Amino acid sequence: MTSIRIGYGVDVHRLDSGIPLFIGGLEIPSEIGAVGHSDADVLLHAICDALFGAANRRDIGYHFSDTDPKFKGIDSKILLEEVMVLIEAKGYSVVNIDTTVILERPKLNPHIPEMQEVISKILKVELDAVSIKATTHEKVDSFGEGNAIKAYAACLIEK
Ligand code: MG
Repeated sequence: MTSIRIGYGVDVHRLDSGIPLFIGGLEIPSEIGAVGHSDADVLLHAICDALFGAANRRDIGYHFSDTDPKFKGIDSKILLEEVMVLIEAKGYSVVNIDTTVILERPKLNPHIPEMQEVISKILKVELDAVSIKATTHEKVDSFGEGNAIKAYAACLIEK
């Protein structure tokens, strides 16, 4: 019998000047970057949490503690690969994901096709199964003022 499960994830990081900005597995040219224990890739973290949620395997902080030196500065693509190992251990594969990144600047649209390629390879799905949307926060609140970045992800997994 087919089992289909939904999951969703949310992540936020503070932005600061003079550090790199990683989103969707890429380094995005920017004067401001995201602050975090890992590479602070907000989109990959939201996807990790969506997958954990779908498999009911707790959350990213539970698996990859932000006080563990092992994860200091780690490439979040490695974290997402580890999540996939857990998903597959439960017999599941990914059907599709749908995501939104909230960021005032820089514009992400030029980078989305490459992000889709990177993420689809890790999730072992077709490009068409990876939706990435970008929006600003209309200059409102911390996100709109360029002080923070947020991402949402929804996913479907099946076995
Ligand atoms: Mg995070």
